[in-house]
Amino acid sequence: MDALKQMILKQGKVLDENILKVDSFLTHQIDPKLMDKIGRHVANTYKNKGVTKIVTIESSGIAPAAFIGLHMDLPVVFARKQKSLTMNSELLMSEVYSFTKQVTNTIAISNKYLQEGDNVLVVDDFLANGQAALGLIELCKQAGASIEAISIVIEKSFQEGRKLLEDKGYKVDSLARVGSLKNNQIQFID
Ligand code: 5GP
Repeated sequence: MDALKQMILKQGKVLDENILKVDSFLTHQIDPKLMDKIGRHVANTYKNKGVTKIVTIESSGIAPAAFIGLHMDLPVVFARKQKSLTMNSELLMSEVYSFTKQVTNTIAISNKYLQEGDNVLVVDDFLANGQAALGLIELCKQAGASIEAISIVIEKSFQEGRKLLEDKGYKVDSLARVGSLKNNQIQFID
């Protein structure tokens, strides 16, 4: 998606060979016009696929997911992260290791909002090693929901997430694929 790639080149900061900072438009401050374009683009791809729900994880997945939901006229559910959770029979739960924060979080969605018969579009801001996506897939499995695809805003293609998810049979669809962050340069692949 060209507008996204232009924004990444203009405002993205390479922190090191593995981490891209995009807090001026996606992960802290949000650019609603860009999110709207992302929403339209993804909605256009999935409009006739029988998706019933958009599922993401707090916090940085929420902005793109909300705009995708808006343009698909579908509800958006975000998994909540908690360090410790008292067992609750209403909650679907799974564990996610965070690549950037290096902590393991329990993530949870109420079984009121994700159910058997749902066909889910999983959305996230970044795909690195695929742990967040796998956690969301696990919640969908617990609910008995199916997964249409994993829709990612920025994929770091030099990390193993895409392969891990594709090897498990999931479709991965990324709006921008970063092939390298070496030498302080952002390089895309098609
Ligand atoms: P994964 O679970 O695929 O290893 O990592 C994805 C999650 O880690 C995303 O939800 C995102 O919040 C965070 N993340 C991974 N890599 C980056 C990065 O380069 N920059 C930022 N800002 N977040 C990242």
